[in-house]
Amino acid sequence: MKFFRAEAVVLKAREHKEADRILTLFSLEHGKLRVMSYGSARPSSRKRGAVQPFCRSRFFFTRSRDLARVDQAELLEFFPQIAADVDLFGLASYFAELVDGFTVDEAPNRALYHLLVESLRILDRDSGVLARAFEIRLLSLTGFGPELACCVSCRQPVGLTGPPALSPKAGGAVCAECRKGYTDALGLSAGTLQMLRRLGEGDLRRVLTLRPNPPTRRELKQIMARTVAFHLGRMPRSLGLLEGLQRTDA
Ligand SMILES: [Zn+2]
Repeated sequence: MKFFRAEAVVLKAREHKEADRILTLFSLEHGKLRVMSYGSARPSSRKRGAVQPFCRSRFFFTRSRDLARVDQAELLEFFPQIAADVDLFGLASYFAELVDGFTVDEAPNRALYHLLVESLRILDRDSGVLARAFEIRLLSLTGFGPELACCVSCRQPVGLTGPPALSPKAGGAVCAECRKGYTDALGLSAGTLQMLRRLGEGDLRRVLTLRPNPPTRRELKQIMARTVAFHLGRMPRSLGLLEGLQRTDA
Protein backbone atom coordinates (compact mmCIF):
# COMPACT_ATOMS: atom_id res chain seq x y z
CA MET A 1 0.00 0.00 0.00
CA LYS A 2 1.30 3.43 -0.94
CA PHE A 3 0.30 6.83 0.39
CA PHE A 4 0.74 9.97 -1.63
CA ARG A 5 -0.63 13.48 -1.91
CA ALA A 6 -1.21 16.00 -4.67
CA GLU A 7 -2.61 19.41 -5.37
CA ALA A 8 -5.10 19.05 -8.21
CA VAL A 9 -8.01 20.51 -10.14
CA VAL A 10 -11.06 18.25 -10.48
CA LEU A 11 -11.67 17.81 -14.21
CA LYS A 12 -14.57 15.40 -13.94
CA ALA A 13 -16.61 13.64 -11.26
CA ARG A 14 -18.51 10.58 -12.46
CA GLU A 15 -21.20 8.96 -10.36
CA HIS A 16 -20.35 5.54 -9.10
CA LYS A 17 -22.94 3.64 -7.10
CA GLU A 18 -25.00 5.90 -4.91
CA ALA A 19 -22.55 7.94 -2.93
CA ASP A 20 -19.18 7.30 -4.58
CA ARG A 21 -17.49 9.26 -7.31
CA ILE A 22 -14.76 8.39 -9.78
CA LEU A 23 -12.73 11.57 -10.17
CA THR A 24 -10.48 12.63 -12.99
CA LEU A 25 -7.94 15.03 -11.52
CA PHE A 26 -5.21 17.08 -13.09
CA SER A 27 -2.51 17.41 -10.49
CA LEU A 28 0.57 19.56 -10.23
CA GLU A 29 2.81 16.73 -9.08
CA HIS A 30 1.60 13.66 -11.00
CA GLY A 31 -0.37 14.97 -13.99
CA LYS A 32 -3.71 13.30 -14.69
CA LEU A 33 -5.03 10.87 -12.09
CA ARG A 34 -8.17 8.75 -12.00
CA VAL A 35 -9.16 8.07 -8.44
CA MET A 36 -12.03 6.70 -6.41
CA SER A 37 -13.69 8.90 -3.81
CA TYR A 38 -15.87 6.73 -1.57
CA GLY A 39 -18.88 8.32 0.04
CA SER A 40 -18.08 11.83 -1.18
CA ALA A 41 -21.59 12.40 -2.53
CA ARG A 42 -23.13 11.99 0.93
CA PRO A 43 -24.28 15.32 2.42
CA SER A 44 -22.33 14.52 5.57
CA SER A 45 -19.04 13.80 3.74
CA ARG A 46 -16.17 16.04 4.74
CA LYS A 47 -14.66 15.60 1.29
CA ARG A 48 -17.77 16.75 -0.51
CA GLY A 49 -16.91 20.42 -1.05
CA ALA A 50 -13.41 19.64 -2.26
CA VAL A 51 -14.24 17.07 -4.95
CA GLN A 52 -16.67 19.10 -7.06
CA PRO A 53 -15.70 19.77 -10.70
CA PHE A 54 -13.23 22.65 -11.17
CA CYS A 55 -12.29 22.90 -7.48
CA ARG A 56 -8.59 23.16 -6.73
CA SER A 57 -7.92 20.97 -3.73
CA ARG A 58 -5.21 19.14 -1.84
CA PHE A 59 -5.72 15.40 -1.91
CA PHE A 60 -4.34 12.56 0.16
CA PHE A 61 -4.50 9.14 -1.46
CA THR A 62 -3.92 5.50 -0.78
CA ARG A 63 -3.01 3.24 -3.66
CA SER A 64 -3.37 -0.49 -3.34
CA ARG A 65 -4.12 -2.35 -6.56
CA ASP A 66 -6.52 -0.59 -8.89
CA LEU A 67 -7.64 3.01 -8.66
CA ALA A 68 -6.07 5.12 -5.96
CA ARG A 69 -8.51 6.06 -3.21
CA VAL A 70 -9.06 9.58 -1.84
CA ASP A 71 -8.57 9.51 1.94
CA GLN A 72 -8.83 13.23 2.52
CA ALA A 73 -9.48 16.32 0.42
CA GLU A 74 -9.09 19.94 1.45
CA LEU A 75 -10.45 22.73 -0.69
CA LEU A 76 -7.78 25.26 -1.67
CA GLU A 77 -9.70 27.38 -4.16
CA PHE A 78 -13.03 27.40 -5.88
CA PHE A 79 -14.29 29.57 -8.68
CA PRO A 80 -17.76 30.85 -7.76
CA GLN A 81 -18.37 32.45 -11.16
CA ILE A 82 -18.41 28.97 -12.77
CA ALA A 83 -21.35 27.81 -10.67
CA ALA A 84 -23.21 31.08 -11.14
CA ASP A 85 -22.93 31.44 -14.90
CA VAL A 86 -23.88 28.80 -17.46
CA ASP A 87 -21.62 30.33 -20.13
CA LEU A 88 -18.59 30.18 -17.89
CA PHE A 89 -19.52 26.65 -16.83
CA GLY A 90 -19.43 25.71 -20.52
CA LEU A 91 -16.03 27.32 -20.97
CA ALA A 92 -14.59 25.64 -17.86
CA SER A 93 -15.97 22.30 -19.09
CA TYR A 94 -14.25 22.87 -22.43
CA PHE A 95 -10.91 23.58 -20.77
CA ALA A 96 -11.27 20.51 -18.56
CA GLU A 97 -12.17 18.31 -21.53
CA LEU A 98 -9.13 19.51 -23.48
CA VAL A 99 -6.76 18.90 -20.56
CA ASP A 100 -8.26 15.43 -20.14
CA GLY A 101 -8.12 14.70 -23.87
CA PHE A 102 -4.58 15.91 -24.48
CA THR A 103 -2.86 14.26 -21.52
CA VAL A 104 -2.09 10.72 -20.48
CA ASP A 105 -2.29 9.40 -16.94
CA GLU A 106 0.49 10.24 -14.50
CA ALA A 107 2.62 12.40 -16.78
CA PRO A 108 3.27 15.65 -14.89
CA ASN A 109 2.97 18.87 -16.88
CA ARG A 110 3.37 21.76 -14.45
CA ALA A 111 3.08 24.48 -17.07
CA LEU A 112 -0.25 23.04 -18.22
CA TYR A 113 -1.46 22.82 -14.64
CA HIS A 114 -0.67 26.51 -14.11
CA LEU A 115 -2.33 27.40 -17.41
CA LEU A 116 -5.51 25.64 -16.31
CA VAL A 117 -5.62 27.23 -12.86
CA GLU A 118 -4.85 30.71 -14.16
CA SER A 119 -7.47 30.36 -16.91
CA LEU A 120 -10.15 29.33 -14.39
CA ARG A 121 -9.29 32.41 -12.33
CA ILE A 122 -9.82 34.82 -15.21
CA LEU A 123 -12.65 33.01 -16.95
CA ASP A 124 -14.96 36.02 -16.76
CA ARG A 125 -12.64 38.30 -18.71
CA ASP A 126 -12.66 38.30 -22.54
CA SER A 127 -13.67 34.66 -22.90
CA GLY A 128 -13.17 34.53 -26.68
CA VAL A 129 -9.55 35.64 -26.44
CA LEU A 130 -8.97 33.48 -23.36
CA ALA A 131 -10.35 30.39 -25.13
CA ARG A 132 -8.03 30.89 -28.12
CA ALA A 133 -5.02 31.58 -25.91
CA PHE A 134 -5.84 28.46 -23.88
CA GLU A 135 -6.12 26.31 -27.01
CA ILE A 136 -2.88 27.44 -28.59
CA ARG A 137 -0.95 27.15 -25.31
CA LEU A 138 -2.38 23.75 -24.47
CA LEU A 139 -1.37 22.48 -27.92
CA SER A 140 2.18 23.80 -27.45
CA LEU A 141 2.50 22.35 -23.96
CA THR A 142 1.36 18.90 -25.09
CA GLY A 143 3.56 18.73 -28.18
CA PHE A 144 0.94 19.66 -30.79
CA GLY A 145 1.69 23.38 -31.15
CA PRO A 146 1.41 24.51 -34.77
CA GLU A 147 4.50 25.97 -36.41
CA LEU A 148 3.61 29.60 -37.05
CA ALA A 149 6.96 31.28 -37.77
CA CYS A 150 7.30 30.12 -41.39
CA CYS A 151 5.84 27.63 -43.88
CA VAL A 152 6.02 24.23 -42.25
CA SER A 153 6.62 22.60 -45.65
CA CYS A 154 9.21 24.78 -47.48
CA ARG A 155 10.45 26.86 -44.49
CA GLN A 156 9.96 30.12 -46.41
CA PRO A 157 8.14 33.07 -44.85
CA VAL A 158 4.38 32.79 -45.40
CA GLY A 159 2.35 35.56 -47.00
CA LEU A 160 4.88 36.51 -49.71
CA THR A 161 3.24 34.86 -52.71
CA GLY A 162 -0.35 34.98 -51.50
CA PRO A 163 -2.40 34.83 -48.33
CA PRO A 164 -1.11 32.40 -45.69
CA ALA A 165 -3.05 29.34 -44.60
CA LEU A 166 -2.90 26.95 -41.69
CA SER A 167 -3.11 23.20 -42.06
CA PRO A 168 -3.61 21.06 -38.94
CA LYS A 169 -2.42 18.05 -40.92
CA ALA A 170 0.80 19.77 -41.99
CA GLY A 171 1.34 20.97 -38.42
CA GLY A 172 1.21 24.72 -38.95
CA ALA A 173 1.28 27.60 -41.38
CA VAL A 174 1.68 26.89 -45.08
CA CYS A 175 2.51 29.34 -47.86
CA ALA A 176 0.27 29.90 -50.88
CA GLU A 177 2.32 27.43 -52.94
CA CYS A 178 2.52 24.57 -50.44
CA ARG A 179 -1.11 25.00 -49.47
CA LYS A 180 -2.10 23.16 -52.65
CA GLY A 181 -0.82 19.93 -51.12
CA TYR A 182 -3.03 20.19 -48.03
CA THR A 183 -6.77 19.97 -48.55
CA ASP A 184 -7.48 20.77 -44.89
CA ALA A 185 -5.64 24.12 -45.05
CA LEU A 186 -7.71 27.11 -44.07
CA GLY A 187 -6.80 30.57 -45.40
CA LEU A 188 -6.08 33.26 -42.83
CA SER A 189 -5.29 36.93 -42.97
CA ALA A 190 -1.74 37.89 -42.06
CA GLY A 191 -3.23 39.74 -39.07
CA THR A 192 -4.90 36.58 -37.77
CA LEU A 193 -1.67 34.62 -38.05
CA GLN A 194 0.14 37.36 -36.17
CA MET A 195 -2.59 37.38 -33.49
CA LEU A 196 -2.28 33.61 -33.11
CA ARG A 197 1.45 33.97 -32.45
CA ARG A 198 0.82 36.65 -29.84
CA LEU A 199 -1.87 34.61 -28.08
CA GLY A 200 0.65 31.87 -27.48
CA GLU A 201 3.34 34.06 -25.92
CA GLY A 202 3.96 35.83 -22.64
CA ASP A 203 1.80 36.45 -19.63
CA LEU A 204 -1.77 35.18 -20.00
CA ARG A 205 -3.34 38.21 -18.31
CA ARG A 206 -1.45 40.58 -20.63
CA VAL A 207 -2.72 38.65 -23.65
CA LEU A 208 -6.28 39.41 -22.54
CA THR A 209 -5.66 43.07 -23.29
CA LEU A 210 -5.44 42.18 -27.01
CA ARG A 211 -8.56 43.25 -28.86
CA PRO A 212 -8.91 41.31 -32.11
CA ASN A 213 -11.59 42.64 -34.46
CA PRO A 214 -14.66 40.47 -35.23
CA PRO A 215 -13.35 38.97 -38.53
CA THR A 216 -10.07 38.03 -36.83
CA ARG A 217 -12.00 36.45 -33.94
CA ARG A 218 -14.03 34.38 -36.38
CA GLU A 219 -10.92 33.17 -38.22
CA LEU A 220 -9.16 32.35 -34.97
CA LYS A 221 -12.14 30.40 -33.68
CA GLN A 222 -12.52 28.43 -36.89
CA ILE A 223 -8.87 27.49 -37.29
CA MET A 224 -8.40 26.60 -33.64
CA ALA A 225 -11.56 24.47 -33.58
CA ARG A 226 -10.27 22.61 -36.62
CA THR A 227 -6.76 22.17 -35.18
CA VAL A 228 -8.02 20.98 -31.78
CA ALA A 229 -10.45 18.49 -33.38
CA PHE A 230 -7.71 17.17 -35.70
CA HIS A 231 -5.33 16.35 -32.84
CA LEU A 232 -8.06 15.17 -30.48
CA GLY A 233 -9.48 12.92 -33.19
CA ARG A 234 -13.02 14.24 -32.64
CA MET A 235 -14.96 17.42 -31.92
CA PRO A 236 -14.82 18.26 -28.20
CA ARG A 237 -18.16 17.31 -26.61
CA SER A 238 -18.32 20.43 -24.49
CA LEU A 239 -18.26 22.63 -27.59
CA GLY A 240 -22.01 22.05 -27.63
CA LEU A 241 -22.21 23.92 -24.34
CA LEU A 242 -20.37 26.83 -25.91
CA GLU A 243 -22.44 26.99 -29.08
CA GLY A 244 -25.14 29.27 -27.79
CA LEU A 245 -22.74 31.62 -26.06
CA GLN A 246 -23.18 35.05 -27.52
CA ARG A 247 -21.87 37.11 -24.67
CA THR A 248 -18.60 35.30 -24.16
CA ASP A 249 -17.78 34.85 -27.85
CA ALA A 250 -15.91 31.68 -26.94
ZN1 LIG B 1 5.73 26.66 -48.40
